[in-house]
Amino acid sequence: MLSQKPTECRRPAWKAIARPTISSVKESPPGNAARSTRFGFPKSGRYSLSYWLQGVQGDPLLNHRTTPDLPTSADIVIIGSGITGTLAAKHCKGAWAEKSIVVLEARKFCSGATGRNAGHCKPDQWRGFSEYEKKFGTEQALKILDNEQQTWLALVEYVRQNNVDCDLWVGDTLDVPTTPDVAAIARRNFEHFQAAGGKVDHIKVTHDPMEAFKISRIKDAQACYSWSASTLCPWKLTAHIMRDNLQKGVNLQTRTKVTRVVKSSKVLGNWIVKSDRGDIECSQAIHATNAYSSALAPSLRGLIYPQPHMCDRIIPPVAFEESEALTNSYGVLLANGDLFSINPRNTTEGSAFIGGSNPGQPAFERWLEAHPERGIDDSLQGFRPVTEAVRAFAQSQIIGWKAEFNNDSWSGIIAREYIPHFICSKKLIDG
Ligand SMILES: Cc1cc2nc3c(=O)[nH]c(=O)nc-3n(C[C@H](O)[C@H](O)[C@H](O)COP(=O)(O)OP(=O)(O)OC[C@H]3O[C@@H](n4cnc5c(N)ncnc54)[C@H](O)[C@@H]3O)c2cc1C
Repeated sequence: MLSQKPTECRRPAWKAIARPTISSVKESPPGNAARSTRFGFPKSGRYSLSYWLQGVQGDPLLNHRTTPDLPTSADIVIIGSGITGTLAAKHCKGAWAEKSIVVLEARKFCSGATGRNAGHCKPDQWRGFSEYEKKFGTEQALKILDNEQQTWLALVEYVRQNNVDCDLWVGDTLDVPTTPDVAAIARRNFEHFQAAGGKVDHIKVTHDPMEAFKISRIKDAQACYSWSASTLCPWKLTAHIMRDNLQKGVNLQTRTKVTRVVKSSKVLGNWIVKSDRGDIECSQAIHATNAYSSALAPSLRGLIYPQPHMCDRIIPPVAFEESEALTNSYGVLLANGDLFSINPRNTTEGSAFIGGSNPGQPAFERWLEAHPERGIDDSLQGFRPVTEAVRAFAQSQIIGWKAEFNNDSWSGIIAREYIPHFICSKKLIDG
């Protein structure tokens, strides 16, 4: 049953890259007052299980503790075991092999946004340009999009070179504007990016609606932009990197919530990372806590705040099996700045993960305004306007979908402000 109110996950626990950019999640932040009151630690107790987490419930890494007791000291303490904390550990170990590194995770390994996202690794190659340019200037905007491409290339190379078992798919991703107005805005943005010196040779473009429809199978397609991107299982990728970290001597402590980071009174420049299992003294503390950053660092309240975000998984009708399956990933550009991001899992079981700025998201945000205490609640599932928007889209826009609609949904907590959060504690505490 779909319900208006998000529902708690009722399944037992055992059954159970990347970041949304400016261009993939529309900004409609709550007012200042609401923003500064919305913060919290990772929710304890029940949470919804993403498709990724459902598939790894037997994996011992979820509850891994390298040592039974928490070390009392380390050179570097990293808080958070999502892709950011895990990569931070990899790079710190690579740079300073001799240093002791402890990763602390409040819940199970990689059970935050990284373990709950839609698995779409899509380097923005033009779409966010104008927004970035407004915020950061032309040069930085060009660098951001170039960095997206370099990051994606490095990711694919890493997965291939290390034979990472993470369902990697590499292929053409399509951006498909679905109204004439949206197509005109997209075109202006693309041409502006090109005129500013942006690289576009690798992007195939058609502005012919009929051709765009044929390529994309989206009924109202007005244009189509196509370039290379990936989809993958983010939990498996992060687990691979963490397992390598563990072999190199990193100490991972799951189910260990950090409650405060304070200056050491004994050694100048050192920090005490306080957790519900004891304290660790260290010379460097890295916060890789994403949406939860402002719970641990009060100076960030109002700047970084948590926002539940839904992902829907839809199971295609029989007509979409085998040779009829979707063969691309998508950004479907809708009116009002809304967007569906689609990961069709077309090299695996073929279900489509739909995220992005769902047209039902504003209703969800209004509900959150009225229930700010649910801002870190990732037990939420099936908010009706969000699911209904996915249903309406699939049935009216994807050619051949017909009436079948089977779906599953979960939530994860994203950090609003869209900055990757990777901050040293000295700065947080000294302001
Ligand atoms: C539904 C959804 C769909 C998304 N879809 C996509 C997509 O398709 N493509 C894409 O690129 N991005 C997507 N994203 C965004 C992406 O998942 C995140 O930007 C990314 O995973 C952030 O990684 P992270 O390591 O910084 O944060 P997280 O994965 O959230 O990791 C932070 C970790 O810190 C831990 N932590 C926090 N506070 C404490 C504390 N006090 N003590 C100990 N541990 C703590 C948390 O438990 C958590 O495990 C999506 C996100 C969501 C929620």
